[in-house]
Amino acid sequence: MCHSARWHGPSFGELQMSSGTLPAAIHRGAFVLVLLLLALPAWSADPPSSGVLGRGTAWETNYYAQTSDRAGPTVVITAGVHGDEPAGAAAAEQIRHWPIVCGKLVVLPLANPPALAARTRTIPGAAAPQNNLNRNFPKTGQPGPPVGDQAEAIWQWLQVLQPDWVVDLHEGFGIRAAGSKSVGSSVVVRPDAAADAAVERMLAAVNATIDRDDKRFVRLGPPIDGSLARAAAEHLAAQAMILETSIQDLPPPVLKPAPQAKPDAAKPPHQPLSRRMRQHRLLVHALLTHLKMVDSTLQVDRVAGRAAAPDKTWVALYDAGGTGGQGGAAVERILAGAGMRVVRVGPEEIAAGSLTNFDVAVFPGGSGSKQAAAIGAPGREQVRQFVERGGGFVGICAGAYLCTSGFEWGLKLFDAKTISPKWQRGAGMLQMELTPAGRDIFGDRPMLLDVRYQNGPVITRAEIEAVPDYEVLAFFRTEVAQNGAPAGVMLDSPAIAGGNFGQGRVLFVSPHPEQTPGLEDLVHRGAQWAAGKP
Ligand SMILES: [Zn+2]
Repeated sequence: MCHSARWHGPSFGELQMSSGTLPAAIHRGAFVLVLLLLALPAWSADPPSSGVLGRGTAWETNYYAQTSDRAGPTVVITAGVHGDEPAGAAAAEQIRHWPIVCGKLVVLPLANPPALAARTRTIPGAAAPQNNLNRNFPKTGQPGPPVGDQAEAIWQWLQVLQPDWVVDLHEGFGIRAAGSKSVGSSVVVRPDAAADAAVERMLAAVNATIDRDDKRFVRLGPPIDGSLARAAAEHLAAQAMILETSIQDLPPPVLKPAPQAKPDAAKPPHQPLSRRMRQHRLLVHALLTHLKMVDSTLQVDRVAGRAAAPDKTWVALYDAGGTGGQGGAAVERILAGAGMRVVRVGPEEIAAGSLTNFDVAVFPGGSGSKQAAAIGAPGREQVRQFVERGGGFVGICAGAYLCTSGFEWGLKLFDAKTISPKWQRGAGMLQMELTPAGRDIFGDRPMLLDVRYQNGPVITRAEIEAVPDYEVLAFFRTEVAQNGAPAGVMLDSPAIAGGNFGQGRVLFVSPHPEQTPGLEDLVHRGAQWAAGKP
C-alpha cells in the first residue's frame, strides 16, 4: 500500500491557467474551477499533465505532473537550478516519464533555462548575489518573500503543490568521500529521523553500483540556507533533500607513483554524463520505491526517448568507457543544434534495451576495442539487434572501428576490415573527396575537403556473406603513415561509407568532421541518413 497522503490543495489547473501570481490564482479559484469543468471532456480522468512556469519570460519552463487514482505522497523533483550541473536536468527529463502507482509525481526538469543554456552556475545577466537561484528561497526564520521573479514563481508553485517530499538534483565537482571540499556524490538532508530510512535506502542503491569506497555517496546536511530544499523543509514541512553527483572522477589508483609525478598537473578526468544521470535515477528510484510509488516493472536503466516528441530524430550518444577527447561533446552540440534530441547513454542503458526508444546510436572517438569491452557482449548484441530492426548507427573514428567485421570484438554491422593491424597512423589535416552518392547525402561540395584525422580506420572490404556491401561516400585523397604504418594504402581508401544491416543503416566515418570547422553539417546530415529520415 502507498503511504497515506495529506490534503493537497488547489489543482494544477489553477496553476496552469494563472499566468499571474498565486494570490490572484486563489482569488480566482472558484471561477477557474467552473471554467475547467466546462473545458474538460466528461471522460477526462487524471492523465499526466503539465504546465508552464514563467510564461512569456526568458526563463519560461515546463513542469510535468502525474496523479495516480490511488492516494499517496506528493513528490516534487526539481533540477537544473544551477546551469553548469547538467546531469540532474537530463535525469529529471527521464524520471518524468516513470509511471507511478500511487500519489503524485511532479517534475520540473529545467528550473533555470537561461543558466542551463549558458552552462553557468548563476543566472546570466543577474546581479550578484541574487544571481545564485539556490540562495534565493526563504531563509531560516524568514518566511519570505523569495528573492527575484524566478525563485518567487518556483516557490509559489511549490506552496500550491504542498509536497510531502522535495528532491532537488544538483552536481558537485569533486567527490566528497575522496576528500574533496565539494559536496559531490552526496545526499544533503537535514538530520531528521523521518527521512533516515529513505536516505539509507537511496545511498545503498547508488553505492551498490560503485566499486571503490572513495567514490561512494555519503550523507551530508543540512542543505544550505536559502536553498530550495532547506526552504521546503523549514517553511513547507516537507522532507527535502539535495542530490549531488560529481562531475569529476578519480584517476585510476596508482600502485607506485613515479618520482617526478605531479599529481596536480593533470586535470582530473570527468565522469561520463550518462553515469551521473544514472546515479540521479538510482537515488530517485530508491526513494519512490521506498514510498511504494513505483512498482517492480519500472526499469531504471531503460531511458525514455522518442515518446516525448515523436516528430524529432532521437539520438543515443554513447559517452562511457572507451570514449575520449572532444568528439562526443562536438557531436552533441551539432546534432542538438540541428534540432535532434540527444540523450547520453552508457553500457547499462544499452544493456537495458534503451536503444529501441531512439532512431540512431552514435559512437564517437576514443578506442573501438575499449568501447566494445565496456558495453560487453550483451551490449554489442543489443546494438546489432537495434540496427537489424531498423535503427541507425553512426561510428566516428573509434566508433567506426567498432562497427567493422575484422576484429573479434567488432559489431560486424559493416562489411569492412582494417587493412593493417597498425592503427597509430598519426593525426593531422587530410583531404577527402565526396563521391556522387556522398553528395546526395552531404550536399554538393568542392572537390577536396580538408578534414581532421586522428588514427581512424583504413579499410577494405571484408567480403562477409551475411553483411551487405557498403557504398563509399568519400575517399581519402591524402594520407598519413607514421609509427610503422604501411604507406600508400590509405590513399584513395574510404573515409566515409554507408551500408545496410537488416532494416537499419550504418554510417562509417574514419576522420573527424565533427571537429573540423565547416564540416559540422556532415554529422547531422549523416545522422539523419542513418536514422532513415529525409
Ligand atoms: Zn548546484
